[in-house]
Amino acid sequence: MDISNRLYTRIGNPLEWTSTRKAAFLIWIYFFQQGIYMAWLLWLPGQGEFEQHFNRVAIADHTQRFIWLQLVSLGLIVITGWAQLRKSDHLFYEYLATLYFGVTHVYYGYCVGLMSLPVGVVLVGAPVVGFIFFNRRAVALAFVSALLAVSVLSYLTYMGRLPYAPLAEQLYLQNHQLSPFWLLAYCVFASPHLLIIFALTYYVLQRWRVREQEANYHSRTDSLTGLVNRRCILELLEQEQKRSVRERAPLSVVMVDLDHFKLINDSWGHQVGDAVLVLASRALKHTLRQHDHVGRYGGEEFLVILPGLEAEQARNLAERIRVAIGEVMMDLPGGQHLSLSASLGMTSVSATHPVSVDVLIKQADTALYQAKSCGRDQVVVMV
Ligand code: GH3
Ligand code: MG
Ligand code: MG
Repeated sequence: MDISNRLYTRIGNPLEWTSTRKAAFLIWIYFFQQGIYMAWLLWLPGQGEFEQHFNRVAIADHTQRFIWLQLVSLGLIVITGWAQLRKSDHLFYEYLATLYFGVTHVYYGYCVGLMSLPVGVVLVGAPVVGFIFFNRRAVALAFVSALLAVSVLSYLTYMGRLPYAPLAEQLYLQNHQLSPFWLLAYCVFASPHLLIIFALTYYVLQRWRVREQEANYHSRTDSLTGLVNRRCILELLEQEQKRSVRERAPLSVVMVDLDHFKLINDSWGHQVGDAVLVLASRALKHTLRQHDHVGRYGGEEFLVILPGLEAEQARNLAERIRVAIGEVMMDLPGGQHLSLSASLGMTSVSATHPVSVDVLIKQADTALYQAKSCGRDQVVVMV
């Protein structure tokens, strides 16, 4: 089992989480991110050798705001946790969490410079991941609000009303190079976002792949017998017929119908009938060669495709199928045994005279009808 499957069995599918759980998840992640920002802000003033890179007064000012914001997050964790305990599921929590995440991130971005790597990563990454996980309107609202806030703050900075990156000093060196100190700081701020964006996107894509495989499997498989369903066996027949024409190879088709199956249902009930269908399918499968195909064509009717077999060889195989189904034995309550028989209609096309799929099916069906009317439990060939 790969990581994403293991995660799935533990946490379920995040795409199907309630709004409250999604909101709580976002706030928790955000709380840890804020913890990183906070730790950095508390660590900075003690670093004398970097003195020229930061504004001590502004840091003292903004530390209080950082603390307040983290307390707000703590409050939101409590609120969303409480809502989860009360099993309350409301879209409001998604709006609240995404809006809070978006707008307050603009503030953090403003502190270190709005035109910087971490702000770019959040502005691009958060909506991408957000649109996958959260309500689209909530994410759109948060994104537009954040963009508006970035525009207003940038304009005020441009007008000289607000300082650009108030926490920073000497953001650029004299030769217009970005200060290595801030370059490193930007990488540190951007990396948790990049990590989360990468992990969540990977997880979601992986889940989608698994879902697609499951959906594909279910659309091709008969759920009772595990054989391919009618649509799929007809597709296979279409492919094999084309191949037989292309490669000038013979092709045989057998229609198998269990005899007096209605009687089994009527006497023993549908459950026994279902179990009989499963046993008959197994017998069919075990009798066929690796490249043959068998599908459930209808209720108790199966379609078998035998590529590359001339009429005589195919007839022998059809006979083996009849015998295999005849050997199916089911034990019933009261020490009774139920045995089966089947009628088979077969048709073959030789390499030199190809016919269409419709004609193949029609001929096999006519042969089956004859097998039924001649007393059942036999193979009739129509070429
Ligand atoms: P014949 O020998 O002429 O083929 O007679 P039959 O009774 O086998 O054929 P008929 O067409 O009269 O009845 C088929 C029955 O198969 C009727 C239907 O209820 C039953 N059936 C179809 N699909 C299923 C299924 O998935 N499970 C069960 N238990 N019965 C099914
Ligand atoms: Mg039948
Ligand atoms: Mg039938």
